[in-house]
Amino acid sequence: MNTAINSPCHLCPRDCGTERSRQKGYCQCGADIKLALAAPHLWEEPCISGTRGSGAVFFSGCTLRCCYCQNMDISANGFGKEISIQRLAEIFLELQAKGVHNINLVTADMYLPQVLGALDMAKTRLHIPVVYNCSGYQRTETVRALKGYTDVYLPDLKYYRPELSEKYSKAANYFAVASQALMEMAAQTEGLVFDGEGMLVKGMIVRHLVLPGCRNDSIALLRWLADSLSGEKFMLSLMCQYTPINWAGLPKALLRRVTSLEYDSVVNEAVKLGLTRGYMQKRGSAQKEYTPHFDLNGV
Ligand code: SF4
Repeated sequence: MNTAINSPCHLCPRDCGTERSRQKGYCQCGADIKLALAAPHLWEEPCISGTRGSGAVFFSGCTLRCCYCQNMDISANGFGKEISIQRLAEIFLELQAKGVHNINLVTADMYLPQVLGALDMAKTRLHIPVVYNCSGYQRTETVRALKGYTDVYLPDLKYYRPELSEKYSKAANYFAVASQALMEMAAQTEGLVFDGEGMLVKGMIVRHLVLPGCRNDSIALLRWLADSLSGEKFMLSLMCQYTPINWAGLPKALLRRVTSLEYDSVVNEAVKLGLTRGYMQKRGSAQKEYTPHFDLNGV
């Protein structure tokens, strides 16, 4: 892929066509890569973080507009530092030198051409897996472009109903897009491979955050996963850490945490469907402890 940023840009399903050489797109991204943090991260799933951490590279901007986003400073408010493709390649190698288990690209879609360019620059010296950590809201073409660059996919699967995805993330076509993207990811990875330390080195983990009042939507997603993807091809990571901290902008339905009844009904459905390979977060886990402090460390 050409490492020049697409301008006009059609990289994501928003397809906003912005001339990013002159202005920012819907995602709040301009022409240059922008990072907020590059550091070992210990709060991913155990087979990603391990004992030495995952080398998380947090990109600024986002193609979704989740009203409950815990990282608004970087997703919507533009916090970060602009860097070159060369510098991004150096950051990958610096993280590797710190002993992390993998390079974890967090919300990188908006910079896909440059990210692939940086991976090309680093590839002869980069010996750890590359994890693509994303919202699930990826064009199938984007996922195809990642073939050969990504070892582990770590997508969210957020919503089933268009009304819900429009209301909470301004993306009515979320499931239509994400279901196709996940199928392509599963086709590329073809199963789960672990190293001698139990770290995932190839495969896919599908993450789902259960939201208050949305258990039926969660259950519809689980049924789609069970029907559409072989259980051998992915792990499920069910999360209940939702905490309403962005009070001012939240709809009333999201001003509380998920109840035990709601979460247990989703967990029970996962078990009933045989989706038991993976992780089920314990209730009481607070989201705040999983949220990194964005301070340009490592950038
Ligand atoms: S990546 Fe950004 S600029 Fe490009 S189409 Fe998506 S929202 Fe628009």
